[in-house]
This record gives sequence, structure tokens and C-alpha cells, in this order.
Amino acid sequence: MDKKKIKLPILITIVITVMFLYIQSINVKSSIGTISLRGTEQSINKSHLEQIKIIEADLNKLTSQEFMGRLTGTRGNEKAGEYLVDRFREIGIKPFNKNQYFHEFDQEVYYPDRSEHYMKIIFKDGSEKVCEYGKDYIDQIRLSTVDLKCQVVMDKKELASRTTGEIAIVVDDDSINKNMFRSNTKAILRKRKDFFGVPQIAHRGAAYIQIDDKLYDEMFEKKAKEVIIKSRYKTNNSTVKNIIGKIPGKKKEKAFIISAHFDHVGWDGDIMFPGAIDNGSGTVAILNIAEQLVNGKELENDTYICGFNGEEFGLFGSRAFANHIKDKYSEIIVINIDCIGKINGKRLGIHGDASKNDILKKDMKSILDKKNIDNFTGTIPNSDHSSFSHDGMYSISLIQENLFKEGESIHTPKDSTELVDYEYLKKICDVVVEFIYEFQNKSYIE
Ligand SMILES: [Zn+2]
Repeated sequence: MDKKKIKLPILITIVITVMFLYIQSINVKSSIGTISLRGTEQSINKSHLEQIKIIEADLNKLTSQEFMGRLTGTRGNEKAGEYLVDRFREIGIKPFNKNQYFHEFDQEVYYPDRSEHYMKIIFKDGSEKVCEYGKDYIDQIRLSTVDLKCQVVMDKKELASRTTGEIAIVVDDDSINKNMFRSNTKAILRKRKDFFGVPQIAHRGAAYIQIDDKLYDEMFEKKAKEVIIKSRYKTNNSTVKNIIGKIPGKKKEKAFIISAHFDHVGWDGDIMFPGAIDNGSGTVAILNIAEQLVNGKELENDTYICGFNGEEFGLFGSRAFANHIKDKYSEIIVINIDCIGKINGKRLGIHGDASKNDILKKDMKSILDKKNIDNFTGTIPNSDHSSFSHDGMYSISLIQENLFKEGESIHTPKDSTELVDYEYLKKICDVVVEFIYEFQNKSYIE
């Protein structure tokens, strides 16, 4: 063996030893990091990355084919509710009422799988087109029965002269206005680039239908003359469920409610509306917030974790729960989450629909500002916070700005997990947790 050959193994040994020591020092540093994290006020058992992964898994589940867009009254919605119950149990959220996570209420629902559709267009040259439901058109308002044969009006000038005879008006997305709903208007066919899911039931009035932009162009070019429309919907007054859990606090006078609606607009024809931002985002947020609170310092007040149902039909679930809880505490503060964490979502809105919530808004804003989350205060009334302020409680909703950007709109099939910025969503969860700890002893009663 010559010297050169001896030197190489020594060199390799030194290099390996140095690398080993370096790796050890990294391990020591990261374990110090974990320990100090557990030592903070809001200690959590899971790392940031683990929490992000759970949020992502929950959202993938909620937006999956299995739940079919979570329309209230359908099996997909029930399954989503059962999933929430399982997650509440796993996290350690107690049932709100003895052993019960379900809070039942009644509302009118419809069944997309028990509906019938037919639409035929007759053109000036005598040719005909039988349209495909879910591809060429979908209903916007669901009337139990439609049976029509009417003249098509596509021209605003022509509309003025058509005061008699049953007509179907064809309009582009922006030109729709009240004047079009006249006594002889039996149908409105509205052009849409992306179909918009709306669970709206009506028992009388004109048929209100969304048509694909290609069908609109075809009707225009080939001069549509007449339209025949038939449809049937099965509707029912049904008992449906909110999912409500509770984290008991030391005192029982005041309560916090952290809520999000988990229902969405389901499916129509072959189209499914996944509802990732609306409101899968809020639903996964309340799960993360709850997990942080359950594993954090004991809370001063009872804190309810609420997955509301029936929001898309008109805030039915939150109204039922507001009515249930309103007299059970001397003060109730609601933080509702509806559509957050959107990529390019711009600012986060802090909305309350009554001036009594102004201080609550200001307090939430102070934490968002501290964490450098771009935000503003507003007064949008159409989310679940309204049900509580209506019944005299303090309530706000966190709602992302810029939800209806062309091609990324909520309530369209494009509202999928691709629109979600998980890091941003998690930041908002952390804001709500911080809010609860910082303001749990504050009273908003004047
Ligand atoms: Zn919605």
C-alpha cells in the first residue's frame, strides 16, 4: 500500500465526520424550534406543514365527486355532514347538545336527479334544434312545472312592440333588466360564459334559463323564431342538518361561535359545482381553527364550531341555529367564514350588517393588520352573520374580495381546489385563533 492510497480513506473519514456533526447540529436546532413552539400560548401538536396537509386533504374530500357539490337535501350533502361529524370527533370537539352533533331544521329542497328537461328551438328557415340540458342550457330558477311554446325576441327594439302574445326573451349577460319581466314574458334565456349554480325554487313566474354562449350565437345567426320548453322539478319540505360542536369554556355567560356553511349548489345535468372557495374554504378553516383551540390554552368561554347547512338557499341553517342559541348566553359573538384563501383574491373583507358590530370589526382588523393581511371593513349582508345580527347578537363574516372575476367565479364549475392558496387560507385561520385568545374577556355590550 502506498501513501496516496492511505490518504484517501482518511480524507473520506474526515468528510463523513464533519457532515455527520453538521447534520446533528441541524437536528438540535429544529428540535429546539419544536419545543419552543409547544411552549407558546397557542400550542399545537402538529407542525405548520402537517396542518396545511390536513387542510388540503379536507378540501379535496369536500370538493370530491362523492359529495356532488353538497346541495342541501341531497345524499352528497348528508355525506359531507357525516364527514364533518367524523372530523369533529377526531379533533376532539364535543357535541353541542348531549351526544348530538346534528341540529335539525326544515326547508324546501329540490332533487336534481328527479327533474325533467326539454327545450327545442325553431329557426326562421324551418330547421330545429333540440338542446341538451347541462351542455346548452341549465335552469336558473327552478319552477315545479314549465310548459311553453313562445315567440323568440332577441332584439331590444322588437321587445318594445311585443306587448301581446307569449314571448321568450333572449339576452346577453349584462343586458338583463326589470323591464323584460312583463306579463307576456314567459321565459328569459340568459347567455352565460360559465354556467352559474343557483339553488332557487319558485312556484310561479317566468322560466329563467341560462344558455351557453354558443347556443346564444346560433340563435342569433340562424334567427330563432320559436322555443318550446318543458320541465318538471320535484321539490319537498325536508328536515336537514347543521353540524354543531362545542369547546367548553371556564365561564358559561358568554359564547363565541366560529362558523362556516358547508353546503353548496350541487350539480345540474352533467355539471358539478365543487365549491372549493364557496365554502369548502370556510369549512376547512373552522376545522383547523377548532383543532388549534382544542389543543391550546383552556378557553374562558364556551366556543361553538358550526357547519351550517342551507346557506345557498337563503341562510336557513344559521337562522335556525341563531334562534336556538340566542337566549342561552348574555353575550354571543359570531365569527363566520365564507369564501377565503383565494388566489388573486385581493383583500379580505370583514363584513357586518349592523353598526353594533363596528368595534368587533375593528378588533378583527387590528389582528389582520398586525399580520400584514390586506383587508377592509364592509357591510355585505348575504352570509350567515346576518342571521345572528338579526337576532341581536354580535357577528361578522370574513369574505374574500374579487370572488366573481371572469373565468374564476364562485358558483361555477371552475370553483375548484386550483383556486385555493393554502398558505393564505391558513394565515386567516391563525388570525381567528389569535382573535379568540386576545378578545375572549372583552365585552361588546354597550
Ligand atoms: Zn355561495
